[in-house]
Amino acid sequence: MKLILLGPPGAGKGTQAKRLQERYGIVQISTGDMLRAEVAAGSDIGREAKAVMEAGKLVSDDILVRMLASRVDRPDCAKGFILDGFPRTVPQAEALDGMLASRNLQLDAVVELKVDDAALTDRIAGRYTCAACGAGYHDSFQLPRTQGVCDSCGGTRFTRRADDNRETVGARLAAYHEQTAPILPHYAKQERLYAIDGMADIDDVTVALVALLDSLPR
Ligand code: AMP
Repeated sequence: MKLILLGPPGAGKGTQAKRLQERYGIVQISTGDMLRAEVAAGSDIGREAKAVMEAGKLVSDDILVRMLASRVDRPDCAKGFILDGFPRTVPQAEALDGMLASRNLQLDAVVELKVDDAALTDRIAGRYTCAACGAGYHDSFQLPRTQGVCDSCGGTRFTRRADDNRETVGARLAAYHEQTAPILPHYAKQERLYAIDGMADIDDVTVALVALLDSLPR
């Protein structure tokens, strides 16, 4: 199964992608995670991307398209993948079309998680992850069962993203509306676009996504 999860920052793409990858045995490809790994490694790409990401802007299409092309060719993608954070611009969507066509692959669905802008700042500003296993938490909406201890792995160190702050969220939302939302008609034209209510509880969103994906012809 090959999917794209679309939606503004904080819509729940990463959370849902992690659940879908377990259920369907396909891999989550988060271009944000890939870029954060480049920044942490201090690579050429990381050095170029760091300031752009911290400003809430988009890294160049050229870098992202090259990064994604080499990622989808890795053997773990053979059963399928969930794109989380890519494509984010019309040129990226067009490059992805070419990438898939040249590999004889077809998207099964592009799913938009619809969330009101007003909810996003609180969602983003409160989120953090376990430094050991990457499990996601939130100061108000999703606390670990024991305070300070990861439910999944027992880890006690947590991290917050440098760009998950109230100042940067505005720029990230503007980038979404100006540069990413215009790709929705691109997929509507291909009759691949579906929408899910991303304002619902995390578990309810998963149920709706699974119902949708299980109903697709395969
Ligand atoms: P995310 O983790 O998806 O919220 O991405 C974090 C940041 O990484 C974004 O705000 C962008 O600066 C950058 N980024 C991630 N994916 C892309 C992409 N497909 N195109 C351009 N920039 C991206």
